[in-house]
This record gives sequence, C-alpha cells and structure tokens, in this order.
Amino acid sequence: MTVPKEFNPTVARGVAPAGAAEARTTLSFYRYVVIDKPQAFRDALFREWSALRVLGRIYVAREGINAQLSVPSAWLERFRNAVDAHELLKDVPFKIAVEEGAISFNKLTIKVRPKLVADGLADDAFDATNVGEHLDADAFNRKMDAGAMVIDMRNNYECMIGHFEGAYLPKADTFRAAIDEVVGMLGEKKTEEQEPEILLYCTGGIRCEKASAYLRHHGFTNVGQLHGGIIDYARQVKASGMASKYKGQNFVFDGRMTERITDDVVSACMQCGVPSDRIANCAQHTCNMLLVQCEACAARYADCCSPSCREIHQLPEDIKRAWCKGKASASSKSKAISDPEALRKRIAEEEALLAQNGTLYPEMMDISPNPM
Ligand SMILES: [Zn+2]
Ligand SMILES: [Zn+2]
Repeated sequence: MTVPKEFNPTVARGVAPAGAAEARTTLSFYRYVVIDKPQAFRDALFREWSALRVLGRIYVAREGINAQLSVPSAWLERFRNAVDAHELLKDVPFKIAVEEGAISFNKLTIKVRPKLVADGLADDAFDATNVGEHLDADAFNRKMDAGAMVIDMRNNYECMIGHFEGAYLPKADTFRAAIDEVVGMLGEKKTEEQEPEILLYCTGGIRCEKASAYLRHHGFTNVGQLHGGIIDYARQVKASGMASKYKGQNFVFDGRMTERITDDVVSACMQCGVPSDRIANCAQHTCNMLLVQCEACAARYADCCSPSCREIHQLPEDIKRAWCKGKASASSKSKAISDPEALRKRIAEEEALLAQNGTLYPEMMDISPNPM
C-alpha cells in the first residue's frame, strides 16, 4: 500500500474534518536517534498520526526525528501513547506551545531528509554526541544571574524581535555562519580572560545539540544549553510563575510566525525607528524580504519594504505582470533586512528620486504607454 505524501483534512475521505472550533494543542519534539529505515518509519507514523488528525511538519532522517505539530487537545493522551509505542520515541519530551488554540498547521507532512537540520556542518569532523549540559529554565536563569555568557544560536532575523537579556546575537543569517561567528567571538574572549561559562539557546533546543558539540570540539568545555529551547522555557516560566529572562516574541516555524513570550518590545521599526516588533514580509512578491515594520510604515509603504517595491506593488495588474515577467517570487522567511540603517538611507534616496522624477523606474515607459 502506498502512503500518501500529505494529509489534508479538508480533502481526506473517511476522516471527519477538523471543526473550526476544535481545540488543538501545538507541540514539538525531536530526538537524535539512529533510525535504520527512515522511509518505513515515516510511513508508519503517517498512518497512525493522520488517523489521530495530527497536523504539522515532521522531518525523519537516519540521525533522528524533528516534529512540529498540532493534535486535537482531546486526543493528546492517545497521541502520547501512539508515540510511546515506538521504542525509538519512547518518553521523548513534548514541548507544548504557550498560545494554545492559535492557528498553525493546516495539513500533515512527514518528509524523509538526509539530515534533521540543514546545518552545513560535516558530522564526521566532530563528535556530535559530545553535547553540553542540558539546563531547565530555573537552572538557566540561575546561571545567568551568576554571570554566565548567553549566546543566541538562531539566525539574525529570529533574534531581532525577542531574545534573552544581554545575549550575544549573531549577525549571520545561517546556522553555519552563526556558529563560526560565535567560535570566533569566543576565541577572542578566551585569550583575554579565562574561559567564560557559556549558555546556548535556540527555538526548540535542537540546534544547540549540534552547536554545543561543535563548541566543545573547539575546546570550550564549560557549555550549557537550554533544554527544549525558548518554547519549553516559556512553558516552564508560565507554569511556575517565575520571571522570564527572555523578552519579547519568539519566532516560530509554523503558520503563526511568532509567539509572544512577554509584553516587552525589544526591536524597532526598520523604516522609521519607533519601538515595534511587528514582523512582516514585503508585499512585493519578487522581494518578500522580512522586516520589522510598524503599522504606520505599513500604511505608508503599502506593506512594502521600500518606495521602489511599493511602486511596483501598486501598479495596475497587467503592467505589474509585464514587469514581473521572468522574475521569480522570492521565498518568504529566508531573508531578512539585516541593516536597518542602510534601508533607511535607501528609502530617503528613493523618496528624493521619486519626488524629482515621479517614478523610480524610468524604463517603465517601454512597458506602459501611459505612465502614471
Ligand atoms: Zn515605522
Ligand atoms: Zn521589498
């Protein structure tokens, strides 16, 4: 029997469609464990989980499993039992998301991948099982109070709208580049003083598994990591009532994009500089850059990153189509504006040109016989 590639409750036969009001629990888990037959394992999970109306995105690889999903809240225990029935997954900790009932996944996809996280690291170059000390929220907080150095292991665009107080935030926009940046930064510190205690964190904890092993390989022995990542930290903080040292929002990889952890606004609108942690993609689809944009700027720039994108975005459909011809849509979430100062400079230059010429695209004359 062939197992379908994805499960969509609105088209699946024999499965009651998920009601709009159905309470769902969003959770994630991962485990590094050797899976000999990833495809067969994947197919088994797919059969069991689609019967439980699980929705989400799951990766299975020879090195383990990484799952982000939602399950009808009433069936959470059944799902737990179904997971535990697999020896490879028995007792894997679930990380339950804070904002329950938030919209997230609309289908179930389970993909077999060569690796769990596209980390760009050669696994045979270091011992990936030699990981740092796993810390819960309370232990992490206490080590922070004792002066440990906190390092954010996410990409630049994930750090910008929320992070731990005083954390080092990498400027790189890939995991591979971020970890090299961190090793370089720590290397400089190490020659000045003795090795600081290092605390790593990421969204769900999985990237810290690789990062801590990589840092240990580079001679940093005093490495701790936040077990379960920000997602589980938020859950523990909420359950115990302790103060969150993580401020702002958490960037998540489901339909919600962000999860609010505290009311603090730690970032600024990239276009005008007022405090804001509203995140958006440029509405001009050939650009699609991710940016922090306040409501006022969203209105002013028509949900675009710049006057040049706004001008294209606001063209009549047929002229826009002619302009976009041959230009690919940019993927969302993959790239963010990393230099807001440069963006503001570009906006000022474009506004000046626009005021002078009435357009930023003089070549548009060739497409449109009656330019605006
Ligand atoms: Zn603004
Ligand atoms: Zn743009």
